[in-house]
Amino acid sequence: MKTGKINRRNWLKSGLMFSAGALVAPSVLAKGGGYNKFTGEYEFESELNGITAKLNYNENPYGPSKSAIEAFRAAAVEGNLYPDKVSNTVREMIAEEEGVSVDHIFLGSGSSEILTMTGLAYGADKGSLMSAHPTFKTMLDTAVGIGCDWQQVPLTKELKHDLPAMKAGVGPNTKLVYICNPNNPTGTLLDPKELKAFCNEVSARVPVFVDEAYTDFLDDPKANSMIDLIHEGKDIIIARTFSKIHGLAGLRVGYGIARPEIADRITRYSTRLITVSGPSLAAATASFKDENFKSMVKEKNAEARDYTFKELKKRGFKPTKSSTSFMIFPINMKPGDYLQQMRDKGVAVRSWTFDDQNWCRVSIGKMEEMEQFISALNTVHKS
Ligand code: PLP
Repeated sequence: MKTGKINRRNWLKSGLMFSAGALVAPSVLAKGGGYNKFTGEYEFESELNGITAKLNYNENPYGPSKSAIEAFRAAAVEGNLYPDKVSNTVREMIAEEEGVSVDHIFLGSGSSEILTMTGLAYGADKGSLMSAHPTFKTMLDTAVGIGCDWQQVPLTKELKHDLPAMKAGVGPNTKLVYICNPNNPTGTLLDPKELKAFCNEVSARVPVFVDEAYTDFLDDPKANSMIDLIHEGKDIIIARTFSKIHGLAGLRVGYGIARPEIADRITRYSTRLITVSGPSLAAATASFKDENFKSMVKEKNAEARDYTFKELKKRGFKPTKSSTSFMIFPINMKPGDYLQQMRDKGVAVRSWTFDDQNWCRVSIGKMEEMEQFISALNTVHKS
């Protein structure tokens, strides 16, 4: 089995910088655009200068919902109060929906905070954290930053998690396994039965963290969630976010679900103060109950995703079937040139390099944005 290991020394060598004791975020270092050697991705700064189709951050072009905006506004008048009451209300609401007790639920300023806290809690034991490669790196970067190793298991040819290789790779030093399902940046989904069997077996040895940021876009999110294993008392941690289907990325609300002992361990290093603002929590509450909004987003996302898939195929590209609000496909241009030329046409996308291949990841925007993306692609990249 070919697995890679990243430790703090070679990670630091690749360019991590500390400023006045604080970690400088990779995105800051990417200012000006181009190859970001800290993340291994190609990106451009997020300013909107000239960008009319912003398809680089998997943001929801339809959100926030009207109900969320109204709730946010109404809650602003209580901005003088710490948001402990609304925080508990949100935890109770999620606990009821998921069929767990409220002490299973912990909130974060976006699920990024949940990922970071987990990286600190389990990375502090040194050893290694395991994940697929490529995947969403936030937790792994945190863990490597504090001296933990990162055990990388390459995706299969179908760009899915290689569950047998991951299972075989779990050793005495592995402290936690991170699974992003569906995976970012590939958009691929695991068979729920296979994932459940994996989680069942592996969680008897080490906790398995399942990032369900994009499950809301699936036809049947519940059937694909690993929540049943938490009901059974297994060492599974689930993270979800209000940034994607709810369109609240700017309000920063995410949550984790785990056995109370695990939830305590993860939040041990946090301030224990509530890190999500009252108005953001009020907006999340309203959005959580807004079934019409969620259905509308899901439907429109699927429509624009189908269109993009077909148009890419027509032009000879090989997009990967996506279960999310983004899509990945190979490009035969240098990422820096590709991104710059797309940007010149008003389209912002992202690029990865893995398996000796350059890839474009495009977020699924509104139909008119996808049309603009396809039309830019026509002139920029002749496949
Ligand atoms: N997990 C995955 C898989 C993501 O793609 C993202 C953001 O793109 C996050 C977590 C973090 O999202 P947020 O911090 O906005 O909740």
